[in-house]
Amino acid sequence: MSSMPVFFIGHGSPMNAIEDTRFRRGWARAVAGLPRPRAVLCVSAHWETPDVAVTAAAAPATIHDFHGFPERLFAVRYPAPGAPELARRIAALVAGARVRLDERRGLDHGAWAVLLAMFPDADVPVLQLSLESTRSAALHYALGRELRPLRDEGVLIVGSGDIVHNLGLMDWQRSDGYGWAATFEAAVLERIRAGDHQSLLDVHRLAPDAPLALPTPEHYLPLLYVLALQREEDQVDVFNQALVYGSISMTCLRLAASPRDTSD
Ligand code: ZN
Repeated sequence: MSSMPVFFIGHGSPMNAIEDTRFRRGWARAVAGLPRPRAVLCVSAHWETPDVAVTAAAAPATIHDFHGFPERLFAVRYPAPGAPELARRIAALVAGARVRLDERRGLDHGAWAVLLAMFPDADVPVLQLSLESTRSAALHYALGRELRPLRDEGVLIVGSGDIVHNLGLMDWQRSDGYGWAATFEAAVLERIRAGDHQSLLDVHRLAPDAPLALPTPEHYLPLLYVLALQREEDQVDVFNQALVYGSISMTCLRLAASPRDTSD
């Protein structure tokens, strides 16, 4: 089985799950032409735990972990199967942490809103890995490196967050980003393109606008898992690059040995 690419997805508003936005179309295009994965492992901003956990339910529920959105968004179900055996494999693979198998946890919108566009038939098994909330950036990165063999086992790993994420400063009337948001994202992308992961582990030192861009770290941390999975031969492809509502980034990355054969 050939090596799977790795994605970082800027998921933005959960409405992208059900509206025909250019972002949603970009997510669908990103997996067009890919061999069917054995499973998707999603590291979502929306599952923080005091430990490291992986979902191990055979049929994970759809979690509607948001409020203030239309009823039709709460009616969405994403009935992809789980993969309990692969969850056990992941727990055995990770040496740097005890990985708890969580048989009760379902899929949060960081996972299903994106996967609904990527795999609309919900026929690819899905697992999620939690973000241990007290873990340092360097330790998140180290944990991500331990997942590297999965790429050769047909597992598509998707980090789901936002490079810029400040809900408090959001302006729904704006269709672009604040100046500081653009400056911050440009600094992060510049370091990603340079392959300088070390600087990205200390984003507050890298960019003075980090406290505005990321008042809390959980939407940024999935990016560190994605970068940790990067291999020498991988090219970094940026897609869906955009800031919306002033303070939310939709920008996505694809890491793969060969460039995409579709263009946007
Ligand atoms: Zn989110």
